[in-house]
Amino acid sequence: MPMAQKKHIKQPLKPVALPDFNLAFDISKPNRHIPSIMEQAKKSLIGLPREELLAAVAPLGVEPFRAKQLWHWMYVRGVTDFALMTSFSKPLREELAKHFVVQRPAITEAQKSVDGTQKWLLSMNDNQKVEMVHIPSVTRDIGALCISSQVGCTLTCRFCHTGTQRLVRNLDATEIIGQVMLARDQLGDWTAQSQDRLLNNIVFMGMGEPLYNYDQVSKAIKMLTDPDGISISKRRITLSTSGVVPMMKQCGEELGVNLAISLHATNDELRNHIMPLNRKYPIKELMEACRNYPGLSNSRRITFEYVMLKGVNDSIADAKALVKLLAGIPSKVNLIPFNAWPGSAFECSDDDTIEAFGDYLNNAGYVSPIRRPRGRDILAACGQLKSASMKLSVTERAAIAELQREKELAQGLV
Ligand code: SAH
Ligand code: SF4
Repeated sequence: MPMAQKKHIKQPLKPVALPDFNLAFDISKPNRHIPSIMEQAKKSLIGLPREELLAAVAPLGVEPFRAKQLWHWMYVRGVTDFALMTSFSKPLREELAKHFVVQRPAITEAQKSVDGTQKWLLSMNDNQKVEMVHIPSVTRDIGALCISSQVGCTLTCRFCHTGTQRLVRNLDATEIIGQVMLARDQLGDWTAQSQDRLLNNIVFMGMGEPLYNYDQVSKAIKMLTDPDGISISKRRITLSTSGVVPMMKQCGEELGVNLAISLHATNDELRNHIMPLNRKYPIKELMEACRNYPGLSNSRRITFEYVMLKGVNDSIADAKALVKLLAGIPSKVNLIPFNAWPGSAFECSDDDTIEAFGDYLNNAGYVSPIRRPRGRDILAACGQLKSASMKLSVTERAAIAELQREKELAQGLV
């Protein structure tokens, strides 16, 4: 999860005063619009690349230049209602509305932290939930939108709340792009001039392992970066991975986005323990893949994320080992104070320890900002994203199954 970065400075860290949860301005509001079963049966146009969009609407007699206009209405203007697409004739608008939807995930809950961070619990069509967080800019830092790539995560890193979630599925491109579009709706960002936009950076640091869902994540990224659409530069998109080595080269070659590696340990014994994926792709292979990440240079470095776990990975010997590992890789390190969650087995390192660790890295020539936790009062900080879907009761599951059945039925009728 992203956090505003502050330059590593020598003063001791001030203890973070955690605001009372109730101080967070709860802006929980029900969905703008809960799609009916019939609407859910309609095809969503979001997430279809240009040629697929054209193929979807062509049977209605929509010509290529009209499909281009439709693309513009959806991805440049942010319009969701066909009735407002005034460059189309009324009959065409009605036809489109009969067969398609321009959908967003639904907002089930919204919270705003005292520091301006906003968190939304989003509900997909099958009622699966993911969370999305917007961290506004602080002084001259630029804000970031943290999006999810999966419902839950299969990887069970021991320090991560998301990894404890039982229900896991991939999000599709529609759902991934839908998060960004919904954030633009919520921030009122569609009409802003590009230089005034609140949403310019996207980080895949929400729920899930993006490289375990490469097809849909890459489809979404290609559309998010389309200069005639949502138009977010690939230099402003960061994909964070726990180290899915075989996918890293392809990610760099095809997408050219910034890469962040969740490293968190400098030897296999510890990394195997806290990040079980390391047994499959050990540190040596991971660092080799980093060294070979396409497009790497001093101006395009890999970010290594290192969560500070008290007495586990935070000694000066660990810092030394880290410097040794990074040798020859254009890199920077983000030191992340561990964010505790109910039932977590770790504690965050002391401020002095984090400072000393950072100093060591700095002196060795590595930029190593300490992330200042944001949105802690609403559990929006790193590793605290976890959807409520694991709390589904048997009755709720049955209701979802019923909904699915109705949907299929409706689809058969269309
Ligand atoms: N699955 C991807 C992206 C999502 S996790 C990955 O692991 O990189 C985003 C970041 O939050 C990762 O660096 C992850 O290690 C970190 N993180 C997870 N739990 C955390 C916690 N409790 N405290 C601080 N950082 C945490
Ligand atoms: Fe999954 Fe990333 Fe959490 Fe590990 S840290 S469980 S890979 S979301």
